Amino acid sequence: MKLWIFLFLFFSNFAFANSIFVKYEDKKIQQKYQPYVNEALNYLNSNFKEFITEPINIKIDISKNNQQDSFVKYINNSCSVNINFSEEKPHIFNKFTDDFEFVLLHEIGHCLLNKNIFLSESFFWDISLSDSEISYLKSLSNKVEKPITDCLGCESKKDFNVLIAYHENFADIFSINYMNNKNKNYPIILYNYRYSNFLKSPLNTNYISHLALEKFINLKNNKEIKIIEMKIIAQESMLNYVNIFLKNRQ
Ligand SMILES: [Zn+2]
Repeated sequence: MKLWIFLFLFFSNFAFANSIFVKYEDKKIQQKYQPYVNEALNYLNSNFKEFITEPINIKIDISKNNQQDSFVKYINNSCSVNINFSEEKPHIFNKFTDDFEFVLLHEIGHCLLNKNIFLSESFFWDISLSDSEISYLKSLSNKVEKPITDCLGCESKKDFNVLIAYHENFADIFSINYMNNKNKNYPIILYNYRYSNFLKSPLNTNYISHLALEKFINLKNNKEIKIIEMKIIAQESMLNYVNIFLKNRQ
């Protein structure tokens, strides 16, 4: 019996689908946040297991001294997710635990979309593009920074990068698709949050996901959205942004 409980706790705390591992920097934080982590990972495990192609190592650190933003790093053949917060206050939604779960699944979304698009020159778009669009997109994707660092509420003031913007679009859609089950207003709340930050530096940001969220809200309407649809929304809205904002800028 004891062994059974031990095994159950061991696997439910640390491993999902044998490929997701969670490490907490602090015992108290673990006690407090483990139910939310497990909830998010159970959702992932039951709906998107086939898209988890490499081990995901998650490190959770919520402490006053932690001034780092959350980020994702691709290490060899694994995806390393670092969830960092310095305070337990919400910035996007009305509860911190909802911000926490949103960020956790956003970062995991980066893992699911994978690093391959940063590594290969090969054609990976799921939407149809003209030759000139392809070469224009390529010209906007040559400066790839790693890891993908996410900051909440700050102006990113970074050069626009097609691949990162696509990644951010996808990660937001992937995560909000889950958060929508908790509160149907969350997609519009995230839309407003991303849009107001976008307006601070519309030409130097990779957070253009208000465009993708608008498409998501129109499409969602109580139906399940598949990964391929999320990718298409993320790509189409990235292309809209490029066509509307960047092509006319000189
Ligand atoms: Zn991100």
